[in-house]
Amino acid sequence: MTTAHTLGFPRIGAQRELKFAQESFWRGDITEATLRDTGSDLRARHWALQKQAGLDVVSVGDFAWYDQVLNTLALLGALPGRFGFDAKQLTLADYYVAARGNPQHFAMEMTKWFDTNYHYLVPEWTADTSFDGGVDWLFDELAEAAALGHTAKVTLVGPLSLLYLGKIKSGLRHKLDLLPKIIPAYQKLLARLREQDVPWVQIDEPILALDLDSAWLNAFVLAYNGLNHKAPKVLLATYFESVQDRAALLHSLPVAGVHLDLVRAPQQLPALLKDWPQDRVLSAGVIDGRNIWRADLTALTASLQAAHAQLGNKLWLAPSCSLLHVPVDLAAETALDAETLSWLAFATQKLDEVVAIKQALNGNGASVATLFTAADQAIASRRTSVRIHNPIVQKRLAAITPKDETRHSAFDSRISQQQKRFALPLFPTTSIGSFPQTKNIRQARAAYKRGDLSHLEYLESMRAEIRHVVEQQEKLDIDVLVHGEPERNDMVEYFGEQLWGYGFTLNGWVQSYGSRCVKPPFIYGDVYRPEAMTVSWSEYAQSLTSRPMKGMLTGPVTMLQWSFVRDDQPRSTTALQIALALRDEVADLEKAGIGMIQIDEPAFREGLPLKQQDWSAYLDWAVRAFKLSSAGIKDDTQIHTHMCYSEFNDILPWIAAMDADVITIETSRSDMELLDGFGEFAYPNDIGPGVYDIHSPRVPKVSEMQRLLQKARSVIPDARLWVNPDCGLKTRDWPETIAALEHMVQAAKLLRATVSADDEAHLDCC
Ligand code: GLN
Ligand code: ZN
Repeated sequence: MTTAHTLGFPRIGAQRELKFAQESFWRGDITEATLRDTGSDLRARHWALQKQAGLDVVSVGDFAWYDQVLNTLALLGALPGRFGFDAKQLTLADYYVAARGNPQHFAMEMTKWFDTNYHYLVPEWTADTSFDGGVDWLFDELAEAAALGHTAKVTLVGPLSLLYLGKIKSGLRHKLDLLPKIIPAYQKLLARLREQDVPWVQIDEPILALDLDSAWLNAFVLAYNGLNHKAPKVLLATYFESVQDRAALLHSLPVAGVHLDLVRAPQQLPALLKDWPQDRVLSAGVIDGRNIWRADLTALTASLQAAHAQLGNKLWLAPSCSLLHVPVDLAAETALDAETLSWLAFATQKLDEVVAIKQALNGNGASVATLFTAADQAIASRRTSVRIHNPIVQKRLAAITPKDETRHSAFDSRISQQQKRFALPLFPTTSIGSFPQTKNIRQARAAYKRGDLSHLEYLESMRAEIRHVVEQQEKLDIDVLVHGEPERNDMVEYFGEQLWGYGFTLNGWVQSYGSRCVKPPFIYGDVYRPEAMTVSWSEYAQSLTSRPMKGMLTGPVTMLQWSFVRDDQPRSTTALQIALALRDEVADLEKAGIGMIQIDEPAFREGLPLKQQDWSAYLDWAVRAFKLSSAGIKDDTQIHTHMCYSEFNDILPWIAAMDADVITIETSRSDMELLDGFGEFAYPNDIGPGVYDIHSPRVPKVSEMQRLLQKARSVIPDARLWVNPDCGLKTRDWPETIAALEHMVQAAKLLRATVSADDEAHLDCC
């Protein structure tokens, strides 16, 4: 019999119960015991779902109080020593200090888990890091599952991925220097699990799908040979990319099974099957753990026949990765129409899909015939639905030529025309788009959505906000203004709601980090803009001032990256469709007299594939999409873009290829380190490196910003340097916003004064 399992299940709860309990605990409204009860209830519920669906084992160890990496550190006793916690007596309050910081300790750093939007806490490695054992939470959970009568498979973050994902803080030359310490820790852990009669442990090593050098690859041999004794059977889990080029290594490891992501990399199945060891389990990750579409059960079952014939009960079935990355249950979607609903599957439904394929492969197809029929119908409906396929969009996309993606003139000529038109001073000041999203704004939006505020009342209240933002900027003497984005709840949702082809859920929450959840829209059809989306707001804002007002749009890659996307066409096609919609918006803004248009691409770098060999294909279409959205305008219309919170230095040539006239970019956190890259590469167009961090209410001094600007001047010519904050100001309050912007404008003015004094001195002497 084939085994059905899951690599993990979302822990937040269908109604975000864990989030609300965490936040109550942080506020001091509930005790640790009550929070723990919520955790137990959620685990019990999720195991019951797995059992009801017909999985052969339930997943234990995928629960975390904040993050699975932090839980692993708590389990091993490897939380950063700087907190001074007693590893074995760690309380949840301690645990949350590590995650969130307190006045004495800054929080652990957080970063994205591979190419997902989930953030893990970054382990801090030092020469003193020890793995001498921590809390028993995992064993408590195991006991809970046993008491409920479940057969458990334990999941752990693997030792090598854990080391790799951490950061060296001090005293180590290489992360692998910790290998001799971490192997015995896992050995102990596995021995203990075996004593508890745990039959299988799933050890996640997602780094196997990355480009790894020989030191890391050799470490796998060393580590897994070391873990082979007195352990439960090990299922080594890989995901998010192919591990086909690691076939020899995988073969040599003494593990009882390997999990493969066959959604991201289906081609690896036939390749790896060729010399698959007879006694080794192959866990086929065939149900998409990263997306929300109902699976094509018939096609998947067919694609697994050969593997099933070869492996028999050594073939296991699972989602491609943990279901952490999809919403919990479609049953909570009461507002979607029946057709759209029939296309979707969330975590709970995905469990049924795994089991359905298992039944079909085992010859029990009759028992799951309804599921297969429903899946067949959904696939057929998606293939033909007029809500998905829009011939106008397709025809237009097919007719694109390179000319459509290129501005009329080169940057030098454009910028001099723009300079003539706008006559901006040296070091022009601007901001990134949003101004404080006050309670007032949020309440008005909510009331409008509920129907408690009429269209006219809502329009008037947003216009009042815009007037306020414009007045303030004029008073501050900022050169290039923004309207403040009061009408936007979210930079993707706002546009998605107005575009055809985008769908929204009521409860499609996915954990982003800690208690933070996001509700990404889903793109189901050809993207089409039925009418202008931002023009009336921008036009109104421009009517209030004689200074240039930037139109403000979210770019095609970010619109794609922060949504669930179609799996029936390449990402690149969807990106280009969005780009066409934005191109029309850009044209309409230009027609309405908006002379500067910013197209934000904060997620540009995030879309980068995990393997470097795939980078250039991605970057090529990502750049094309941006250019398609932005190139259809006159030379003297100025295109801005904005990026933040990513590593940019290794993709600078592509950022330059986007050919925005101005890029505003977050840099102050790294003390302008980023700029070294821009300087070395000689970034050709205008650039506004952020001169202050917008994440903190702290108001930086004028002198701090001056210092950063001087640093910027060492790599960027004066004529191309802009002055702006790191990112949008929506999370800030008004008083600190005004104070910080005042300092920013002063810094720019002081700099102008020094430069013109220098120029005069120069004239006098020569
Ligand atoms: N224009 C957006 C804002 O200011 C940009 C946000 C972002 O970069 N994430 O809020
Ligand atoms: Zn930003």
